[in-house]
Amino acid sequence: MAGHGLTRATTAVRVLDLLRANGTLSRVELAERVELTPATITNAVRRLIDAGLVREVGRDPQQGRGQPRRLLELDAGAWYSVGIQIDRTTTTIVVVDFAGTRIASAGLRGTGAVGPESTVLALAEHVGSLLRRAGVPRERVLGVGLVTHGPQDRERGVLLTAQPGPEWMEFPLTASLSDLLGLPVLLENDADAAAFGEFWAGALPTDTFGLVYMGSGIGGGVVVDGEVYRGRASNAVEIGHVALNGGEAPCVCGNRGCAQAEAGPQAVVAQVLADSSLAERFGVEGRPDGTLADFDRIARAWRSGDREATGLLERSARWIGQAAVALVNLFDLDTVVLAGPAFVIAGPLYREHITAELERSALSRVLHRPQVHVSSNVDIAAATGGALHVLRTLSVGARVPRSRAEADLN
Ligand SMILES: [Zn+2]
Repeated sequence: MAGHGLTRATTAVRVLDLLRANGTLSRVELAERVELTPATITNAVRRLIDAGLVREVGRDPQQGRGQPRRLLELDAGAWYSVGIQIDRTTTTIVVVDFAGTRIASAGLRGTGAVGPESTVLALAEHVGSLLRRAGVPRERVLGVGLVTHGPQDRERGVLLTAQPGPEWMEFPLTASLSDLLGLPVLLENDADAAAFGEFWAGALPTDTFGLVYMGSGIGGGVVVDGEVYRGRASNAVEIGHVALNGGEAPCVCGNRGCAQAEAGPQAVVAQVLADSSLAERFGVEGRPDGTLADFDRIARAWRSGDREATGLLERSARWIGQAAVALVNLFDLDTVVLAGPAFVIAGPLYREHITAELERSALSRVLHRPQVHVSSNVDIAAATGGALHVLRTLSVGARVPRSRAEADLN
């Protein structure tokens, strides 16, 4: 892997990215967007059409003079992929087609209460039944993107952490799931997956932005010129482990005062559990695999106007705002996206307070006013990004099964 952390995609991959994000484009528009000559684009497009990945779909009626340009789009049925996001409190599985459209999804319990062997067995079963229900033939599935928290070794497909329990450390996650499914499995970081999922969904007006990911823990990602910044080994931008001013709480990483330890969902739930009357009022249970459900209960109390719930979440949001300031200052960003299941209900509150922190203390705020967005698919962004990552990584060079009718009969 390149030492500077940013790998430039090939022309073919960039063409596929643009068509996935925009639906249809002409060759001229593609050439303008990737800043290459029309001849280079024409060659790349010809190879993609021959490979069965791209097709022509009529002409652009908007054009005034001359021959209208032919429009191109992805062949949505060329390939499918599966994205699985596992977390201690929830598991999400999505199936997407080659155009990136979600055609099936399922939500399951988290991994906090079961070990990796049973998790992998259950995942293989659920993926199989989801594909059958969606009517997707196995030979059209390019692979599976398995999305988890970090730190992780993506090349070996193992987690380098004893979270959620010691048996997860170095367990051969991708190898065992791949054996059971008979499909390639790529390991991916949850925040990175959410970041490129957001970018490839075409939901943002910029190709350089930061992302704060909040599941039971807190992660971060940065997309630079349309590419995820990977760092040395894909464990970059761990903003959950930025130590904050005045923070003291001990963290799983060994440091003190990390954003995750001070302000993550587990910390907020622990603050509520410390006060039994609050815990009872919000219905917070404190089960080890129930952190996000408990966090949602606190967020619902905020939404119905509870003052204590508001105070707790605002405190958390201000801490995370500090971490966002570090993220923006390090990468000179003007856009931050919030993604992950913890933002499903509380997203607007976090957006407001993180924006306020950035407007108060981001160094470059005078030059470009910081914008904070809640992700367009906040709870499934990471699973969707994992599925898209598979399409992007494995489709160029793979041979599309020749006869669709024949394939669909199986
Ligand atoms: Zn930490």
